Amino acid sequence: MSKVVMVGAGPVGLYTAIQLKLYDPSIKIQILEKYAQYQRKHVVKIDKASFKDSHPDPKFQALLQSLEGTVPTQKIEESLKEFACTLGIEIKNETIASCEELAKNHPDADLFIGADGAHSIVRKEIFEDKKSKQNLQYVAEVKYEVQGTSRPLSLWSEAYDPLLKSNHLVVEHVGKKQENDKTCVSLRVFLDKNAFQTIKSANFKNPYQWTSTDKQKMDSQLVQTIEVWLKEREKILGDKIVDGSIKISGVKLNVYQSDEVVLEKHNKTWALVGDAAFGVPYFRSLNNGLVCANVLAKKIYSTLHNEQETVNKSFLGIKWQQKVSPLQKYSEKVKEIAQYESFIAKLKATGLGVLGKHLAYARKALFIDSTQDRNEVSVGGRLLMFGMAAAGVGYMMHKAINANNPEPKKVKNNVRRTVYK
Ligand SMILES: Cc1cc2nc3c(=O)[nH]c(=O)nc-3n(C[C@H](O)[C@H](O)[C@H](O)COP(=O)(O)OP(=O)(O)OC[C@H]3O[C@@H](n4cnc5c(N)ncnc54)[C@H](O)[C@@H]3O)c2cc1C
Repeated sequence: MSKVVMVGAGPVGLYTAIQLKLYDPSIKIQILEKYAQYQRKHVVKIDKASFKDSHPDPKFQALLQSLEGTVPTQKIEESLKEFACTLGIEIKNETIASCEELAKNHPDADLFIGADGAHSIVRKEIFEDKKSKQNLQYVAEVKYEVQGTSRPLSLWSEAYDPLLKSNHLVVEHVGKKQENDKTCVSLRVFLDKNAFQTIKSANFKNPYQWTSTDKQKMDSQLVQTIEVWLKEREKILGDKIVDGSIKISGVKLNVYQSDEVVLEKHNKTWALVGDAAFGVPYFRSLNNGLVCANVLAKKIYSTLHNEQETVNKSFLGIKWQQKVSPLQKYSEKVKEIAQYESFIAKLKATGLGVLGKHLAYARKALFIDSTQDRNEVSVGGRLLMFGMAAAGVGYMMHKAINANNPEPKKVKNNVRRTVYK
């Protein structure tokens, strides 16, 4: 009987383990997880396409359907954990402090999987943390709860005023109403490096509160932007903010990618998946993790059944087929997906940067400065702002595509084939 040991019972780890068990119920799977309760408490957007190519088991597919769209991470965790347990996957509370020890403690394991998130110990120790990393943007993440339901402001008819009156570009993310009759709202405020310095010590575990003491620590223009958005959302949507729920954290939006995702070490095979393998911002990381997990589960099954795969090679017009291990194919696919997704993330960063700059120009053109009382913005002002922004974004996106990637169509098509095939 084969045995697979996984570090981390986050959504991607559980999703990989479930599929592997469905492909071969005889495989023993043990997941070692640091916390009894999953720590992340945000809402994520899951695309239906991320579940394409997942195991066709009808019960599993019904569960996945219930997770499409905007969903709290807690719900994903609970449903996947429950399903994993019904399949006989063992989840043990244990913090892994050394991968060498882990390998020694499980001499009968055929394969180890690092699904232990962005700060993966498996990536650090086994893969020597060799990775490429680039900071794309600085963000203040403002999270709060409102009573009852809420929604994002309409870009066409409602968001003009707050965008023009505030000092930064702001993007909203609103979850579904929860069982406690509250809805989570997230405002992402895009900052420059100097403004970010004032909130860099505030993180998800120790965020700033919306109190006068913490407001004094923050950049005054950022405070003003948050005030504008809270006020405008209250005015337009009637948001009733739950007392004491506003939390502000500083976030650096990075793209990173482990150089390798499959390695042999301590006489064992190790693979990375999810945030441990690569991460991109703008609500894509979990989706990418799921897409890669669909591939990994199949390739582990093939590896444990000693199957081999072929790849087409060509040199100077001579074509031939070469045998490779299924995990090598997984590795190649992850690299292709990561390359495409980081290209798209850089494009989005460029677009958002340009949009922010054009909003600043529009504010100047309309004589809106940070000290005046920001009343209604005229229709002419709205048109000017969006005309400038659209022209700027279009031009810069075009430039960025050519600068980032000399052959954008080729890469895009290649990866599309890989991801959605
Ligand atoms: C505010 C916010 C919003 C987001 N929104 C989206 C979105 O809309 N769409 C999207 O696709 N992505 C989104 N993401 C990203 C998404 O949350 C992550 O990509 C996803 O959680 C990664 O899952 P994972 O299983 O790879 O890692 P994690 O969720 O980080 O899970 C890793 C698990 O490993 C455990 N672990 C770590 N180290 C050890 C150890 N040494 N020993 C034992 N266990 C260990 C951890 O406790 C954890 O349970 C968002 C992220 C944030 C912060």
